[in-house]
Amino acid sequence: MIAPVLPTYARAPVAFEKGEGPWLFDEAGEQYLDFGAGIAVCALGHAHPKLVAALEGQARRLWHTSNLYGIPGQQELAERLVEASFADTVFFTNSGLEAMECAIKMARKYHSHNGAPERWRIVTFEGAFHGRSLATIAAAGQEKLTAGFGPMPEGFDHVPFGDHDALKAAITGETAAILIEPVQGEGGIRPVPYQCLRGLRELCDEHGILLIHDEIQCGMGRTGRLFAHEWAESGAPDILASAKGIGGGFPLGACLATERAAAGMTGGSHGSTYGGNPLAMAVGNAVIEEMTAPGFMEHVVEMAGLLRQRLAGLADEFPDVIAEVRGEGLMVGLRLQDGVVNSALVQAAFERRLLTVPAGDNVVRILPPLIVEAEHIGQAVDTLTDACKALRDGAAVAAK
Ligand SMILES: *Cc1c(COP(=O)(O)O)cnc(C)c1O
Repeated sequence: MIAPVLPTYARAPVAFEKGEGPWLFDEAGEQYLDFGAGIAVCALGHAHPKLVAALEGQARRLWHTSNLYGIPGQQELAERLVEASFADTVFFTNSGLEAMECAIKMARKYHSHNGAPERWRIVTFEGAFHGRSLATIAAAGQEKLTAGFGPMPEGFDHVPFGDHDALKAAITGETAAILIEPVQGEGGIRPVPYQCLRGLRELCDEHGILLIHDEIQCGMGRTGRLFAHEWAESGAPDILASAKGIGGGFPLGACLATERAAAGMTGGSHGSTYGGNPLAMAVGNAVIEEMTAPGFMEHVVEMAGLLRQRLAGLADEFPDVIAEVRGEGLMVGLRLQDGVVNSALVQAAFERRLLTVPAGDNVVRILPPLIVEAEHIGQAVDTLTDACKALRDGAAVAAK
């Protein structure tokens, strides 16, 4: 008999009932150190007092009115995002894939609005992940996402990650945009080198096409800047999809764009019932207020340096287990040796009350909340040391 909850997820055998900062507590009161942060969502940790106050305050006043009426919180959050980024305008959604859908529609509409409706194809990269709607699984193109779901929406041209010649060859007179994650998340924490981000910008300008960044996982402070591409200077996109960390755990996404790229998105061209709802806006405004406060990003950079240094030490100690440490800021991946399965290390850490997240390319993702402190990093790496020891000594072979 099918479970009452559609069984599409592989869940760990635990349910949490309380969180505080980087900590989670299960139903039995057991304490876990959360270095997955709900897959890079709980950027400010759990139950951050300012987010709790913002949500509680709004919950007592007003929940929902729809976008038939003005929503002052949207105005406020959009102004803050515009002020802090390359963008001139923002569309609010409830999730990452909806932000991506808006980005895809906007890029196609831009060209039809400018008299080139034949330019509607989008170049994407192998190993990418952009969400689970038909358009976004078609954009990623991986068999494991698309199998069995019938004909995919057309218009996505996939090129191998890092293959410059294939990329250039994929651009034709029908190309509307290039879509890329500045740091691939689900694909295994694969950063795009800064010079490549700048090169993509130049390539797009040369061909009159738009550059779309999916910063749903790598954006909102994860790398120590509000958006990951800022490290690449002059690598800014025309359109950017954000979600995950932007709501700190409340469902929220956003599609940011320049005035030029958004020109075709006129009245009635796009919409959402819940998108930018007052509850989400109250939390989103509190998140960005924290993230733009003096010292916030410096803290992320400092903690990232410490984490990276400690993980490099771990990799040196266990060369039979860890093949590579990679990533940007507090978005770090441990790529494991071929003989060691990533889920076995995730499981061994879980048994020792540390949460991490598996990813593609045999990677274990380390995504602590951005408010993490040195003592938490120390404890996490100690736990990973124990877990690696167990794997090396074969004690966790059964978990494979
Ligand atoms: C999580 C993620 C998405 C999808 O976001 P949802 O909120 O699950 O729809 C898209 N792109 C990237 C890079 C992501 O990490």
